[in-house]
Amino acid sequence: MNLVVCVKYVPDATADRKFEDDFTVDRLGVDGLLSELDEYAVEQALQFREKRQGEENTVTALTMGPEKAVDAVRKALQMGADAGVHVLDDAIAGSDYIATSLVLAKAIEKIAQEKGAADLVVCGMASTDASGSVVPAMLAERLNLPQVTFASVIETQGDQVRIKRVGDTATEVIGGTMPLVLSVTDQTGEARYPSFKGIMAAKKKPLDTWSLSDIGVDAGEVGLSVAWSAVEDTTERPPRTAGEIVKDEDGSGAAALTGFLASKKFI
Ligand SMILES: Cc1cc2nc3c(=O)[nH]c(=O)nc-3n(C[C@H](O)[C@H](O)[C@H](O)COP(=O)(O)OP(=O)(O)OC[C@H]3O[C@@H](n4cnc5c(N)ncnc54)[C@H](O)[C@@H]3O)c2cc1C
Repeated sequence: MNLVVCVKYVPDATADRKFEDDFTVDRLGVDGLLSELDEYAVEQALQFREKRQGEENTVTALTMGPEKAVDAVRKALQMGADAGVHVLDDAIAGSDYIATSLVLAKAIEKIAQEKGAADLVVCGMASTDASGSVVPAMLAERLNLPQVTFASVIETQGDQVRIKRVGDTATEVIGGTMPLVLSVTDQTGEARYPSFKGIMAAKKKPLDTWSLSDIGVDAGEVGLSVAWSAVEDTTERPPRTAGEIVKDEDGSGAAALTGFLASKKFI
């Protein structure tokens, strides 16, 4: 089985995230890491492989991003992925969902040429920077595959994948036949931490760097200049204020608290 897990490199949420003059995210001047929600995607791909001992299963971690995005693939290799692919090309900067899904789909097709078609493409439910939650669906469309998304519980039997999607009002049970695109939530269980052995082994694992021409994508199809939508303006969020402190010295605390909640229409 060939499993491809899509992992995004995002600015560290604790870092001071900034926008460039063209309102794209500054991905070079700040520390970044593997998007936390994609760690769950890697974890599920690895568990899938482990459940199918004896079969020849390969987990390939795929990213599209700037130079440092290779760290997202390295983390996936340290967790246990078998191989990595980094699509790196200056023309990609500022790409929107449309272009991102094009580049990832073409890269998955090239991986298929080299390793056989992907039986399962695993994604996170969303990235932690733009949080569009749309790339998995766009990938499925481009790869002409079914999609089973926002999985909180995953069961597999042969080529059947059945998930539970836990919503606010209902829990849906959705099934599909592989090959398919699967996106997983952070409810699927803890993602493993790379072991020392895993970190050392990752150094020897194959990691390919592909340009747009390597995957047959024209530079004119990606990037900010052809984005269907782009960030037009940003406003700094006001710094958090300390907040109101209620000291309950005479038993009036509860009344003050309910007054505050009522003033904010929380109650
Ligand atoms: C603040 C902000 C706002 C944006 N708004 C828009 C917008 O309104 N419209 C628009 O078209 N674009 C927008 N973009 C651009 C968009 O973020 C990129 O196209 C991005 O690469 C894909 O969107 P996402 O991160 O929201 O992915 P999501 O749809 O949230 O991604 C879900 C999953 O797809 C996979 N994935 C996503 N990106 C990559 C990648 N680069 N490499 C590997 N796997 C990946 C991961 O598994 C991820 O968990 C915005 C970007 C930012 C930073």
